[in-house]
Amino acid sequence: MSVQSSATNTGAARYDVVVVGAGFAGMYMLHRLRGLGFTARVYEQGSGVGGTWYWNRYPGARCDVESMQYSYSFSDELQQQWNWSERYAPQPEILQYANHVADRFDLRRDIQFDTRVERASFDERDNLWSVTTSDGKTVTARFVVLATGCLSNARKPDIKGLDRFEGKVYHTGHWPHDEVDFTGLRVGVIGTGSSGIQSVPMIAEEASHVTVFQRTAQFSIPARNAGLTDEERNWFRANYPEVRRFAREQSKNGIYTEMPDRGALDDGDNKRRSNYEARWQRGGLTFMTVYNNLALDKTANDTAADFVRDKIAEIVRDPATAQLLQPNDHPIGSKRICIDTDYFATFNRPNVALVDIKTNPIEEITKTAIRTGGKDIELDALVLATGFDAMTGSVAKIAISGRGGQTLNQKWADGPRTYLGLMSAGFPNLFVITGPGSPSVLSNMIVSIEQHVDWISDCLSHMRDNALEAMEAERDAEDRWVAHVNDVAANTLYPQANSWYMGANIPGKPRIFMPYIGGVGPYRQICNDVAARGYEGFAMTGRRQTQQAAAS
Ligand SMILES: Cc1cc2nc3c(=O)[nH]c(=O)nc-3n(C[C@H](O)[C@H](O)[C@H](O)COP(=O)(O)OP(=O)(O)OC[C@H]3O[C@@H](n4cnc5c(N)ncnc54)[C@H](O)[C@@H]3O)c2cc1C
Repeated sequence: MSVQSSATNTGAARYDVVVVGAGFAGMYMLHRLRGLGFTARVYEQGSGVGGTWYWNRYPGARCDVESMQYSYSFSDELQQQWNWSERYAPQPEILQYANHVADRFDLRRDIQFDTRVERASFDERDNLWSVTTSDGKTVTARFVVLATGCLSNARKPDIKGLDRFEGKVYHTGHWPHDEVDFTGLRVGVIGTGSSGIQSVPMIAEEASHVTVFQRTAQFSIPARNAGLTDEERNWFRANYPEVRRFAREQSKNGIYTEMPDRGALDDGDNKRRSNYEARWQRGGLTFMTVYNNLALDKTANDTAADFVRDKIAEIVRDPATAQLLQPNDHPIGSKRICIDTDYFATFNRPNVALVDIKTNPIEEITKTAIRTGGKDIELDALVLATGFDAMTGSVAKIAISGRGGQTLNQKWADGPRTYLGLMSAGFPNLFVITGPGSPSVLSNMIVSIEQHVDWISDCLSHMRDNALEAMEAERDAEDRWVAHVNDVAANTLYPQANSWYMGANIPGKPRIFMPYIGGVGPYRQICNDVAARGYEGFAMTGRRQTQQAAAS
């Protein structure tokens, strides 16, 4: 493989690797490829780096994994020098960090912004991908890496009359770059997932009135966000080797925290309650790791769910509103739990109302109102906090055709099929970062991104060193992995929820549990073992074998 990009005899630029997306995955992938001497071109449809943090600029947007951990670990200088200001950094600061990384590692010169990848076709004779972009150009590459993001395809709900609404309509996942001012406006927020829960308290401080349209009540834990002290930052900096090692190798979810050694039913009522109370006071995602069986045992799970339901009833003064806000149709944690700042307390404000659209679905949107239960709720602006076509949505928007002209959308029509979440049989030399079948959205995603990027980088070096040109998941290995992913999920409470992990938020999308729930540490070990056994389950071929196969 070449160090310089070159042109083919048709004049198309040729790269070793095309990377799609310039979020944290695409940026680190580019950095590693460069370091290994591969030529790479990154295409990004946005005008800047940062992915999630470029698009999701809604009020209140911030990470829910603590910033000292939700950050790159590949450069010790970077992690020692960057100063996170708060326990959970707000979106502008995370975007600033992404830009800092792009500058520090001089990434921009190989990223083409404002350019969508629209099509990628594999040529079996030459083992090359042709990649066509929205500027009408086609380039070729030996490898394509989809760093397109699990939560990057914002879902616009299909509600009658939405396009007719005369006020401003905003999607949290596509927030404008200019400041949005809700002062004096009556705002409707549709959706109560993480983005709705983060934004409602902020919007309520500005708007004259906010109506929250809720289909599913959510479990949410207080963030207890606060400024980071020097002492806290320095503790992480001094302990990063162990913090990062634990997150990568030992943890279930890529987060450094205590590992529980007992189940919820091993403690009596008082002890259990005081443990939950301590985690509630601490705040954050580690609420779910107080016991080791909350994701496995419904009776154990109920104790945690009851605790949170009681908290909601304590915080929200109006009993009918409190009852509506109490989730009771899914086990706690079977949908990603939300981390909030004053979400439930916001419903005590006189200018905030909750409307139950599970019982009374939205009938239609008129020029000035949302109609539900036969009643019009007049609004000046609408916020769609309706989430994403998760995990597969952005991949599905690219016309990808592999061996024999089969498209990835055809192959995944009944749900995504991958080996290790990294490759799909029939699509040689095409990698997905944090793809379905890997821990991805169940983890601190930067940990999972770094693991995939490092694995792919090692794999490409191995292929170059051994004069290998094509690599492909074997169908048997893929079938076994898909079965394993499903088996592991079936032993947990996760499939009991109609969640976006299951594709349940998208009408018509097949219901299968997409991420791998076996844990970040064990998953990494599996991937490492596969590589150590000569990339077991992947077929790798050199140029001569490819030519022989084409001739026969
Ligand atoms: C509001 C919000 C908060 C989150 N908080 C956390 C958190 O606290 N902790 C955590 O672990 N995870 C969190 N996540 C998940 C987050 O998506 C990941 O942590 C991480 O940022 C993903 O990085 P990525 O590079 O894989 O994908 P993304 O950041 O989504 O980047 C993908 C990029 O690919 C581009 N792209 C897609 N298709 C194409 C195409 N065809 N052509 C060109 N470009 C394309 C997109 O424009 C996008 O910029 C959050 C997600 C959201 C939405």
